[in-house]
Amino acid sequence: MNTQDYIALEDQYNARNYKPLDVVLERGQGIWVWDVDGNRYLDFLSAYSAVNQGHVHPRILKALTDQAARLPLTSRAFRNDQLPLLAQELCQLSGFDMMLPMNTGAEAVETAIKAARKRGYKVKGVPENQAEIITCQGNFHGRTTTIISFSSEAQYKDGFGPFTPGFVGIPYGSAEALEQAITPSTVAFCYEPIQGEAGVIIPPDGYLRQIRDICTRHNILLIADEIQTGLGRTGKLFANDWESVQADVVTIGKALSGGFYPVSAVLARQDILSVFRPGDHGSTFGGNPLAAAVARESLKVLVDEGLIANAHEQGEYLKGRLQRIESEHIREVRGRGLMIGVELQPQAGGARRFAEKLKAEGLLCKETHDHVIRFAPPLVIQRDDIDWALERIEKVLVNN
Ligand SMILES: *Cc1c(COP(=O)(O)O)cnc(C)c1O
Repeated sequence: MNTQDYIALEDQYNARNYKPLDVVLERGQGIWVWDVDGNRYLDFLSAYSAVNQGHVHPRILKALTDQAARLPLTSRAFRNDQLPLLAQELCQLSGFDMMLPMNTGAEAVETAIKAARKRGYKVKGVPENQAEIITCQGNFHGRTTTIISFSSEAQYKDGFGPFTPGFVGIPYGSAEALEQAITPSTVAFCYEPIQGEAGVIIPPDGYLRQIRDICTRHNILLIADEIQTGLGRTGKLFANDWESVQADVVTIGKALSGGFYPVSAVLARQDILSVFRPGDHGSTFGGNPLAAAVARESLKVLVDEGLIANAHEQGEYLKGRLQRIESEHIREVRGRGLMIGVELQPQAGGARRFAEKLKAEGLLCKETHDHVIRFAPPLVIQRDDIDWALERIEKVLVNN
């Protein structure tokens, strides 16, 4: 079977809720992936930052296969010998007191919302069913019915109502708007330190510190969604570290798995996660030993291989070189670490067509919104490979 055969099958039997590039991948190694026709590509998306450690990292693969052979699933009806160690290691690395494991990013966000609401009622005394959570326009926190309820993206909501109440949207990057939106019923402010899906939107300098200060003054929880920005992507462990800010609650996912297996978590202080009592919340697969073993090794690889510092160093280089490309199509190049957006001029014909052209050159990336190309290679990438990519990016942006 070749590329066209697989595409025909998928389009016939699989729901078309995505519009992928027409490349059918069968193998990966580090920063490279191969398609079923034998072509090699440099992965400049990293599964939306789930593969920060690179494809099929040998140490994570070994942790996965060892644990799979021993004991993959217990459910939380019983304890297992991996979850406690993951919890300890994650807390020691991140500086939080406690974690709550889930599977997908959206579930981690749902968990954070439930924690904030429950704390609002049980600790702050917000009247029953009145809790409000402030969110940002342009946000992306996942696809559950509750989470899309506070999306500002029309397509994410179209046809999916009725929606969950209790969310208030404000402009991203405005501390003033946050201050004004707070009421006695506000329990939390939920935000991304850099908005990834919205097009790699970086808030103004000082914003993270300002929102930290506002939430502290009003006794509302600062919930940072670091599912995409966290675990080294921006050149720091968390993107909040760029302003030395610690949120009250942080959601992580994606790279916590090294790309092998869905695993996510909520990190918070002990007094916050203590609002959950046995039976309040859960997940059959959440905290399973296979996920925990994979996550433990994924974190160790990030640290042992210096991937966070590498993301910073290579990201600065890549961004600098991109900024020097002279192309009439480029409006702005922005980013932190290896999370970089190239915003195109409105008349450039859309980012998708450039992603298609880059694919033909052997580089895989994806448009985000209509006019931004996102570059987010695995954090194991080295200078030579960035130069290889830059040659192709420059060619495509200059000659089309
Ligand atoms: C990907 C992402 C999510 C959702 O994660 P899933 O694993 O797809 O449910 C939530 N928030 C942010 C910022 C993300 O990038």
